[in-house]
Amino acid sequence: MKAWWRQRTLRFRLAAWYGAGGTLLLAIFSATLYSYVAETMARPLDSELRQDLAEIRQRLAITAEGVVLWDRAGATSQARWNSENPWFELWNEQGELVRRFWPFTESRAESMPVAPEPGRDRISIFNVARDLRLRVLSVPYAVPARSETWMIRVMTVHRPMADGLGALRLIIAGALPVVVALLVLGGYALTRRWLKPLDLMVAEANRITAEDLGRRLPVVNPHDELGQLAEVFNVTLDRLEESFVALDRFVADASHELRTPLTTLRNVGEVGLRRSRTVEEYREIIGSMLEEAQRLQLLTQRLLELASTEGDAPTVEHLPVRLDELVRRCVGELGILAENKSQRFLLETPECTAQTDAVLLRQAVQNLVDNAIKYSPAGTTIQIKVREAGDHWVIEVTDEGPGIGVEHRSRLTARFFRPDSGRDRGQGGFGLGLALTKAYLRLLGGTVEYAPAPGGGSTFRLTLPRV
Ligand code: ADP
Repeated sequence: MKAWWRQRTLRFRLAAWYGAGGTLLLAIFSATLYSYVAETMARPLDSELRQDLAEIRQRLAITAEGVVLWDRAGATSQARWNSENPWFELWNEQGELVRRFWPFTESRAESMPVAPEPGRDRISIFNVARDLRLRVLSVPYAVPARSETWMIRVMTVHRPMADGLGALRLIIAGALPVVVALLVLGGYALTRRWLKPLDLMVAEANRITAEDLGRRLPVVNPHDELGQLAEVFNVTLDRLEESFVALDRFVADASHELRTPLTTLRNVGEVGLRRSRTVEEYREIIGSMLEEAQRLQLLTQRLLELASTEGDAPTVEHLPVRLDELVRRCVGELGILAENKSQRFLLETPECTAQTDAVLLRQAVQNLVDNAIKYSPAGTTIQIKVREAGDHWVIEVTDEGPGIGVEHRSRLTARFFRPDSGRDRGQGGFGLGLALTKAYLRLLGGTVEYAPAPGGGSTFRLTLPRV
């Protein structure tokens, strides 16, 4: 049953719930209404019965021999009964009818009332004939003279009230199915109309594939939940499309970058094997093959780093880090490269601490200093400055190199971007360093910017939140 229910459409389930809930509420309401009306209509009749009972108690007496006296006279014959008197029956302890005082003849009554349940005070209804209903009050009646408890049943005609109630019952019985049917149909029609945008969304979503990510879900009403759902879905699709485009570009760029060192490796190997060579020559060939293999290794390592900053973001720590010490350590590590080019460092940093991730930040600073060394001529000075700017720390790396042309600046941090790839190749660049630096800074909540330095060099500026 549960499985069957779950297989139904939302529309069906809503309409069914709506119909079932409505029917239940309506049935409860009708039952309450009916019993209230029945109770209020019967109340005057019941108080009449109680009055009759009080009168009977006053006027009735039963002797030790079981003789029934009415107004102290023997009430033995029907003839002594007059129509003013209340109608009642007397039943003894054995459940036998002792007397019945009512104006009906045996032929008028089609069915006779059966013996009352002993000892219970209750009101019930008897169908004496098709057009004659009696409302009866049965109560225990103590007969002190005989030390017994008999039953008295006081009666009156029930008819007018029954008619009214009958009509009410008929109205409820007739109207209920109609109202329930209207509820179910109305519920179905309403949910169908309200959930229509969902159908459109499903149809459109079915058309969206990895090859056709440009489609978007229709937003019928941006103010309701379905409209908001469609909008959120569309934003997700935007991001998905961007990621797909980025992924395509990345794969294309990466395969292009991998192809060159692989081809070189193969060519060198093939040329080397074309004829027999001296040990020296082989040594040289293997050396250049190793160099290419190293480049390949470095490239794949950088690609992996880049992918890891963009996929599942690595956990970023926010611990107090002494910036001056961090920068000093970076410079120390790269000092040998600068020395080889007779370059010197000029470090200007106050003692300062930032809440950041030391590993990512060091990587970023290292990339910038490494570039400054790589791209500036021998004998120049590389300046590294740490300063405070409002609620940020700024780390600037300035060199006396060739700078970067205006036309290239906007794309500097794009992957594999190298304004002059010929020049860079010899220096081992893949065009991934600045893309990585940007990705690290994004994780740290900061930015990386380029500004031309006075005198033609470059300044790369890292901005880092203090907290
Ligand atoms: P690469 O691995 O090629 O160095 P980067 O992303 O670090 O990759 O740099 C991208 C390009 O930007 C470099 O190829 C270089 O042409 C240019 N570039 C980066 N830093 C400097 C700099 N300090 N001076 C001049 N050009 C630079």
